[in-house]
Amino acid sequence: MSEGAAKKEEKPGKFQAIRGTRDLLPPETALWNRVEQTAREIFGTFGYGEIRPPIFEPTELFARAVGGETDIVSKEMYTFVDRSEKLELHTSIGNLGVFLQKVRQLYKSGEISQESQDQMGLELVENQSKKVNDLLAGTSKSEDASRDIYTLIMLFEALRLGNDISLRPEATASACRAYIEHNMQQLPQPVKLYYMGPMFRRERPQKGRYRQFYQIGAEVLGGTDAPAIDAEVIEMVMTFFEKLELKGVQLSVNSIGCRECRPKYVELLRAELLKVKDKLGPDSQRRIDTNPLRVLDSKVKEEQAIIEKLPRIGDHLCKQCADHYAAVKRELDLRGVKYRENWRLVRGLDYYMRTTFEITAQGLGSQDAVCGGGRYDGLVELLGGPPTKGIGFAIGEDRLILSLQESGKAPVAQGRDVYIAWMGENARGTAVRAAKALRSAGFSVELPPVEQKFGKALGQADKLGAKYALILGDNEVTSGEWTLKTLADGTQQKLTEPQLLDFLRKS
Ligand code: ATP
Ligand code: MG
Repeated sequence: MSEGAAKKEEKPGKFQAIRGTRDLLPPETALWNRVEQTAREIFGTFGYGEIRPPIFEPTELFARAVGGETDIVSKEMYTFVDRSEKLELHTSIGNLGVFLQKVRQLYKSGEISQESQDQMGLELVENQSKKVNDLLAGTSKSEDASRDIYTLIMLFEALRLGNDISLRPEATASACRAYIEHNMQQLPQPVKLYYMGPMFRRERPQKGRYRQFYQIGAEVLGGTDAPAIDAEVIEMVMTFFEKLELKGVQLSVNSIGCRECRPKYVELLRAELLKVKDKLGPDSQRRIDTNPLRVLDSKVKEEQAIIEKLPRIGDHLCKQCADHYAAVKRELDLRGVKYRENWRLVRGLDYYMRTTFEITAQGLGSQDAVCGGGRYDGLVELLGGPPTKGIGFAIGEDRLILSLQESGKAPVAQGRDVYIAWMGENARGTAVRAAKALRSAGFSVELPPVEQKFGKALGQADKLGAKYALILGDNEVTSGEWTLKTLADGTQQKLTEPQLLDFLRKS
């Protein structure tokens, strides 16, 4: 580009939030805060404490906890290599040898966890580097030196210089990791934790589905698997939704058995599915092999009649699982929690067993699940901890908010209690002091930074939705009698500072 052309292009390009992410703005954020505040209050009454785990963790944690075969781990995670801090970024071809030696050391010490192909990659770079060095030193010749150098660069680029980490797609794995890391099994059991914050999944964005979305969740770790625990966890979510006046709430429950009975059921299901294979769509056909339970999840219209005839897990639970499930339902009844049973409710994550549940709400179209949860007794052990019972849930906060908005729970724009309309140098000082006094009494105050005519100030106060305008001019300052205008009806009154505070507190 010529210099002239560059100058013409004066406007720098704009940025947009990355696809699947969005800004949450006022006044909507007031609703988010209310939802979060309510969660803290309700969960607190059930004895839960907050955990704030990191937003990224080793990829391996999610791979092991969520399951390598799940959609989440196999295609939805944001994964990247966190370059080891012991390796400098800028390396010239000349001192590549020293750099590669360091990499070799880090592989050996395990500081960079290596997979089989990493060792091979390192050897390829080392050999190519030698070749290029000889070329540069003139001790050997090549027909195509630039190709050799380019090959070196490509091989170097492919080298793993650090560990794989991922943005968290969910937080149960982190909670369990933390439980183990901080020896929480030594605390009084069970340990009851809640969390809230962003999760990341590379999914196709649509209404109620984002790539950065927010969850509010809770976990009960340790102690027993008493059915009352399952029921109380569910009761807590339902209490939270009730408090928020969420509309059209429907709770579905199911039991998906345990390590004893589920595999047998899955085999039976697979055998039955094979019999009807050619009547199923391609997704379900594939799942017969990979994960037959997921076929039950299918929303494909033509498959519904077939699925309804399949064997149901409820008829194939072992005695312990059947008893546990029956007891969970009794405990729900005891708590007055209304539910329906849905034998087709299987959860997407590998770690669930026995109790699973899902809650839907209105106004969400096809993404109507606002909460999913269940029991995961083997998970802590799978992550290297002691055998530990566990149950939890995650609420999709974005969808919760959407549903609240659809049912008319829109947040009101944050108005101001008092707009201070001031004019004149004397009034400026009084205005600043008045703002301070009113704010410390808890009122929201707008103090315009520059002097403006009273007419303009009152117009501004109106636009901001202020309840009152405090008018401070020379007269008011000298007399100590301030003018307070009620913007709704235009009435005015004269008040001293203590009278003003008194009046506002009572109004
Ligand atoms: P879905 O079937 O809707 O994809 P899921 O089974 O993947 O849900 P979970 O992993 O159980 O969901 O997460 C619990 C809740 O988190 C869901 O019920 C939903 O409300 C919310 N959620 C999951 N993925 C997203 C997303 N990409 N955007 C917004 N909310 C989400
Ligand atoms: Mg999903």
